[in-house]
Amino acid sequence: MATKTKFQAIRGTRDLLPPETALWNRVEQTAHEVFATFGFGEIRLPVFEPTDLFARAVGGETDIVSKEMYTFTNPTSLAAMVREIEKGGSASSEMGTLADMLPEAEMISLRPEATASVCRAYIEHNMQQLPQPVKLYYMGPMFRRERPQKGRYRQFYQIGAEVLEVARREAAEHDWEKEVRKDAAIDAEVIEMLMTFFAKLELAGTTLYINSIGHNGPDCRSVYMGKLYNELLKIKGKLGADSQRRIATNPLRILDSKLESEQSYIEKLPHMADYLCPGCAAHYAALKHQLEMRGVIYRENWRLVRGLDYYMRTTFEITAQGLGSQNAVCGGGRYDGLVELLGGPPTKGIGFAIGEDRLILSLLESAKAPAQQGRDVYIAWMGERAHATAIRAAKDLRKAGFSVELPPVEQKFGKALGQADKLGAKYALILGDHEVSEGLWTLKTLADGSQAKYTEPELLEHLRKSKAVSS
Ligand code: AMP
Repeated sequence: MATKTKFQAIRGTRDLLPPETALWNRVEQTAHEVFATFGFGEIRLPVFEPTDLFARAVGGETDIVSKEMYTFTNPTSLAAMVREIEKGGSASSEMGTLADMLPEAEMISLRPEATASVCRAYIEHNMQQLPQPVKLYYMGPMFRRERPQKGRYRQFYQIGAEVLEVARREAAEHDWEKEVRKDAAIDAEVIEMLMTFFAKLELAGTTLYINSIGHNGPDCRSVYMGKLYNELLKIKGKLGADSQRRIATNPLRILDSKLESEQSYIEKLPHMADYLCPGCAAHYAALKHQLEMRGVIYRENWRLVRGLDYYMRTTFEITAQGLGSQNAVCGGGRYDGLVELLGGPPTKGIGFAIGEDRLILSLLESAKAPAQQGRDVYIAWMGERAHATAIRAAKDLRKAGFSVELPPVEQKFGKALGQADKLGAKYALILGDHEVSEGLWTLKTLADGSQAKYTEPELLEHLRKSKAVSS
């Protein structure tokens, strides 16, 4: 006999259920509205892409690519190989076996982030031909095989935005200071949009941290990296295993280590700010000035480097309350050069990704979430004639935007009212044969038990008015 299997969501994934999903919808709706006021348009991207896209964009040495991606062979490409071998018949020995060909099969990965995909789409759809800059936002699930804990999942959701703009070399050479000011204004506006979004959601206890990590040039970050590397070698023995490994692979990441025993050593390491080239220093100064002009409050954090390879100059992060150790709700930065790295024209870019799961957690913690999603009206009906009227009433009330529960079978009024209470309904509309023949419907306010009779149009008007008062 087949054993009964009790299926459960895979570790690190979860179901989002009502009433919490109402809050998810409110957050997403607010993002649509706020981002549109800044001139951003929505882009919807595939959930999987060639592995190579992420390896190239995010960086092969990052934890995300080296350890955390869900990667598999594209079954379509495997099937094509099998067909090739079968078609070749005896020639298949020349082509080798499937096992020989496997390394060439196309690998695909569930997206661990979406900036790489946005850049791929910018190139694929020739968006450099559009009026620049191109401002896009996205929302949806991302996948990383991280150790699950509060605020950290293997399928999680991000809301992100990117601004992409063809880089005009002549402009940069002709008046680099003007160009730097323009870039800084774009960065500041992106951050302003983000803070406007959080403010509209009344997200509590947010702190914006900013930093500049310079650019990847011989007169800027390279000098700093050399200095940092030498200093790290001196304290290697004091560092944990992860940081020791990162000295060779990704030394900047050591700066954002949270390991307690390393902190006093890391604090004494050199600061990037002291090594910025004139262009990067001017950009950072302009960014701070621009934020101040917009009334955006920030804190500088010289250890904010971000986990991904492609960032340059501006990096930023926002923390919120009620999240424990995973308190970053958003990270972002500038990534000029990423589009070019992916085979496109020289392009500037700046963007951010908000962790929607954490944003929701923080809203729930600070009780900024809406009250339980109850029904407006529960229709308690009894009798065949009343049933027909109840169906029509439900249709009219729903059309007017009320949430209505219409029980499929008649119930004794006492039971119906109990059910209405359990569902958190505000009103019970009582329809018996008597009410139907009289043309006067009884409306019971469940909070205080008061009751009144209305004609159909009066009832609708009364509900409309009370909804307007409560919202
Ligand atoms: P990142 O792309 O790593 O900078 O992430 C941007 C934001 O996404 C972070 O600040 C988090 O809020 C969120 N995030 C990243 N990884 C996870 C995860 N595994 N689970 C939940 N949220 C995440």
